[in-house]
Amino acid sequence: MGVDSYTRRTLKRSELTQNARHYINGRWETGVTTGLSENPSDTRETVAEYARADRSQTELAIRAAADAAPHWSHTTPQRRADVLDQIGSEILARREELGLLMAREEGKTLPEAVGEAARAGHIFKFFAGEALRGGGGETLASLRPGVQVDVTREPLGVVGLITPWNFPLAIPAWKIAPALAHGNTVVFKPAELVPACGWALAEIISRAALPAGSFNLVMGSGREVGQTLVDSPLVDGISFTGSVETGELILQAAARRHAKVQLEMGGKNPLVVLADADLDRAVDCAVQGAYFSTGQRCTASSRLIVEAPVHDAFVVRLRHRLAALKIGHALERGTDIGPVVDRVQLARNLAAIAAASEEGAEHVWGGEPLQRATQGHFMSPALFLARPEQRVARDEIFGPVACVLRADDYEHALDLANDTPFGLCAGICTTSLSRATHFKRHARVGMTMVNLPTAGVDYHVPFGGRKASSYGPREQGRHAAEFYTTVKTGYVLA
Ligand code: ADP
Repeated sequence: MGVDSYTRRTLKRSELTQNARHYINGRWETGVTTGLSENPSDTRETVAEYARADRSQTELAIRAAADAAPHWSHTTPQRRADVLDQIGSEILARREELGLLMAREEGKTLPEAVGEAARAGHIFKFFAGEALRGGGGETLASLRPGVQVDVTREPLGVVGLITPWNFPLAIPAWKIAPALAHGNTVVFKPAELVPACGWALAEIISRAALPAGSFNLVMGSGREVGQTLVDSPLVDGISFTGSVETGELILQAAARRHAKVQLEMGGKNPLVVLADADLDRAVDCAVQGAYFSTGQRCTASSRLIVEAPVHDAFVVRLRHRLAALKIGHALERGTDIGPVVDRVQLARNLAAIAAASEEGAEHVWGGEPLQRATQGHFMSPALFLARPEQRVARDEIFGPVACVLRADDYEHALDLANDTPFGLCAGICTTSLSRATHFKRHARVGMTMVNLPTAGVDYHVPFGGRKASSYGPREQGRHAAEFYTTVKTGYVLA
């Protein structure tokens, strides 16, 4: 839908403001208080009035999930597969509508949002298959005569799923789908900036005939709803995606009560460009990886490490591309980059840009707030030339801001790539198979990309990193079973 037909529809504002309620124990519930989410492309538009829970309402959802756990964990794999398949089919059938809601609430462009909705649908379908395959197990001969040993996987129990705003459907999908596939019951808490997306997903799940309490949605603040999930002795595992600071808090709290925990946090991902690279491809990878989705991806390439012989040519071409990008309303046809998600994040980005200039990074392009026809949080993509010790090259900004670091040669580039507290992903653009192979082996990250943007991953293979980026088992693909199941060893005298 283009912005014109969309603008005509905004005349019916009541139709566009979603009333998002909690889903607890199979029923839709109003909150203790109400919150509003707004459209970052046009802050006059309220996207949702949503229910906010307090500690005791969150505890009701946790109790419902705990009561449902014995039932759901013993459903047949066929039943779980059917439920997940139905959810996936409905998401796919409604991808345009869900994408529109997401573009309005989060601000990513409409094509990106529709693509993400489709991905969420495919994730549910993938995990429908995983429900049938199960987490795997083995039968072995014992070390003792006449004894048989088997190793089986069981559901963890109740899982608390805490998600961020930047992928409002895909990240919840890649936590909820494996949780249910492997027989766990769920309390899902979406980020406060995107409650309507969380609600829309819950609404689809609610029609898939799950037993009451198997899946619950509770909205509200991290400090109240999130913290209640983290602290509850009834919650067996917490899967979290968000900031490093919150992740650290959750890790400490979960450790105190021996809860299983999986954390996906920040990144300061390098894209290395070697002198032998196809430079047009390298610039494409940089533009896509660093700036699309307004740079609001933990896999964004915010450090562009370029070998000296092509450094200046790369910077010239990249600046040229940045100048041609269209920044604007997420629903306007042709928009390359939508708004920043909210005014707090915009202020953070602009402060980081001012600090970069103050610390002596060379400003190449952008980084200014932009005025558009609607009142939104727009800014131009920013590019700096930096030195490795500067903060613009070290801190995650989570916005459309990247820096170029000059590397003397491949070894220097690899050292720079690894010189970060983070370790989510790393990319390299090169035509040398031996360099690419060496880089894949020696980059201290969880995911490597060769001649591809660092952002943009498949859902059927593991996602996650090392160092300050991640903690606990990987997400997605078959490996998701490692978090969502626990291993049991059985001995039988035959
Ligand atoms: P972001 O900068 O992406 O908002 P946060 O880490 O603040 O990152 O938020 C990610 C998710 O964690 C959100 O759903 C948020 O409400 C939740 N959250 C924030 N603080 C806490 C907390 N103390 N305990 C549990 N969850 C929290």
